[in-house]
Amino acid sequence: MAVEFGMATQYIRDLSYNTKRGLRAKARRGEFPGPARIGYINNPRTKRHDVDRRKAPVVVRAFELYAEGQSRFEDIATFFYENNIKTGSRSGSGGGKRWSKNRVKRVLTDTFYYGDFEYAGEIHKGTHKPIISKQLYDRVQAAMEMRGRKQKAHKDPQALCGLLRCGNCGCSITAEAITKRQQNGNVHRYVYYRCTRKRGPCAEPYVREEALASQLDDLLADFILPQEGAKVMLAEADKDEREAQSVASAAVRELRAAVADIDTRLGRLTDLYVDQDIDRDAYLERKRSLMSECRSAEGQITLLERNATAWLQPLRDWINEAQMLDGILKNFDLPSKKLSLQKIFGSNLTLQSREARGVAQNQWASLREAKNNFNKSDLVSTYVPGR
Ligand SMILES: [Zn+2]
Repeated sequence: MAVEFGMATQYIRDLSYNTKRGLRAKARRGEFPGPARIGYINNPRTKRHDVDRRKAPVVVRAFELYAEGQSRFEDIATFFYENNIKTGSRSGSGGGKRWSKNRVKRVLTDTFYYGDFEYAGEIHKGTHKPIISKQLYDRVQAAMEMRGRKQKAHKDPQALCGLLRCGNCGCSITAEAITKRQQNGNVHRYVYYRCTRKRGPCAEPYVREEALASQLDDLLADFILPQEGAKVMLAEADKDEREAQSVASAAVRELRAAVADIDTRLGRLTDLYVDQDIDRDAYLERKRSLMSECRSAEGQITLLERNATAWLQPLRDWINEAQMLDGILKNFDLPSKKLSLQKIFGSNLTLQSREARGVAQNQWASLREAKNNFNKSDLVSTYVPGR
């Protein structure tokens, strides 16, 4: 009995050792060993983690929201909940609930999302596709630190502060919360937005938050990209990516052949020099020129491998963003809408005579244009470059 027990333990120990070794090897190859993060799905065929098309944009937006510095982990948990990221049923509590603060924090501090992951105390460079930039990750960490330090000294800033400028004098628009007590004891709290009047007197009137918010909703509604259009455009983007990749890999193959050729020529040159068929000066000069040729080719290879399809990411981000607008309008709070408005209008939003106006930037402007004369093929030709 004792012997059998000992063998069994050894067997388990070996198994565990081998499993761990396998996992470590996986980590070294840049594949995260373990279940997929939220925003990724396990691809059983490649055993890799693929981007979850539906949830990844939500995770990205959570990072963006938190980076703004005005959301708490609870707010992000609510945001997740509204976007169908809830607790699973395996947790025993029946599932379908809001995430805990800690779980949100684990996501927001997870380096996996920008490409690196930690395994067995070591940082590995992942081969999975990052969904956020390192910069955004750093901004989120900075916001977290700020929130940790801040002791609620000053009053909560109002949601839409810093979004608009006064259309009359150009000063920024600020907010004031006013509490009104009625004689019957009812208490009402109103938020008004107004010009800061930092450059002198300005006669622009106050606007109630509700009125402003509904105008901003109207502005946003103009830029919703219908699901159908988004699907067509994403498919086009995939096609373009495949084409760009095949063009790039053909070019890389040619460049690699050129590098190999230079290597051969360098070898021959060295032979000539060793055999004293050419003098040292001639040898050095030709060597220098060949080496320089080689460096340029290698540089081009690096560029092609890194950048051939890099331009597609901003395009995809934008399509996802435009597609999410519908849901944002229906379900979300002001901070989330503010973020979308800033992406669309930059600093071009003004408030004048109680009316919010804005000039959309870059691709958003063309989206509106295309929507006005809606036609699917137009939409694609407007947004997918080179088509
Ligand atoms: Zn003003």
